[in-house]
Amino acid sequence: MKPDILVLGSMWSQEMRDQLRQSFACHFMDAIPGAGDASLETIAGGIRAVLTTGMIGVTPELVASLPALEIVSVNGVGVDAVPLALLADKGIHVTNTPDVLTDDVADFAVTLLLSTVRRLPLLDRYVRDGKWPARAPLTHARSLKGKVAGIVGFGRIGQAVAQRLQGFGMEVRYFQRSAGPAPEQRSSSLLALAEESDMLVLCMPGGADTRHMIDARLLEALGPEGTLVNIARGSVVDQDALVAALRDGRLGAAGLDVFEDEPNVPQALFGLDNVVLTPHVGSFTVEARRAMGRLAVANLVAHFNGEPLPTPVV
Ligand code: NAP
Repeated sequence: MKPDILVLGSMWSQEMRDQLRQSFACHFMDAIPGAGDASLETIAGGIRAVLTTGMIGVTPELVASLPALEIVSVNGVGVDAVPLALLADKGIHVTNTPDVLTDDVADFAVTLLLSTVRRLPLLDRYVRDGKWPARAPLTHARSLKGKVAGIVGFGRIGQAVAQRLQGFGMEVRYFQRSAGPAPEQRSSSLLALAEESDMLVLCMPGGADTRHMIDARLLEALGPEGTLVNIARGSVVDQDALVAALRDGRLGAAGLDVFEDEPNVPQALFGLDNVVLTPHVGSFTVEARRAMGRLAVANLVAHFNGEPLPTPVV
């Protein structure tokens, strides 16, 4: 008999749904179920696995309502929406999909940095709105070459971003808790990194440990000529402080792919020309999403075959 699994979210491709149905009895739920959800109640007792996304995760209430749960497979690398300690206590495995998305997310971080520094959306609007023939004034953008890129979180994605930015002639510095692969490039603190950098790219995980690490003082240190790019998680930035700093010109510009309360983005950002906004699409390519999906399914298949998990979260 195929194991019963709960699949959360509405974004699964037909290819992935077909793959899942080959091995599992799938129960698809578009909404995030809570305890007492009538349709969930009828199947909860038999659910042995949950397949979810990095953004949806699982709640402690959902975990409590699934007595037969053995594994949570996250289709994404960030696991900040998963109660890891609770699952570990219960002996429930957690897997994610690292590496297969790294290059596309790093490409996107660089895209966002260039779009922000060179003001791509503003220039596009300038042409569409007919301002070019009218010779409406434009201010010069800034170049990347010779500038310092500060990377917060020098892991898989952070290092891939660094490689790319070095190709643009930037000096790369970073901050994270451990020494990392190039200790001579590591700043002594996050504040020191912000002071030393022209552009800060956030690549650390979300969650309680990193919540609001980028606060008003950090933004002040980056300064009116500074640019912030966030492809990490909205929670790592104090969003109110960010909006105020951008509005008042105390921070030069920001490129933001992630927000504190997605999909809600502060209205105050919509009117600012020094901001580029994207809807959490760092890994949103055909190739990355296909590879992530396959890996998320492979983790479930391995578990139920009694084989080692390809990518357990440790
Ligand atoms: P990773 O390889 O685990 O790298 C994370 C790095 O962050 C590590 O080197 C870690 O080093 C550092 N870090 C952890 N806690 C820190 C702290 N408190 N202060 C400073 N640095 C800290 O993960 P990854 O694959 O690069 O992914 C990074 C994150 O990107 C994910 O967790 C996810 O949230 C985000 N992401 C976003 C998108 C998107 O669509 N926008 C897509 C994919 C991933 P230390 O432990 O030594 O501090």
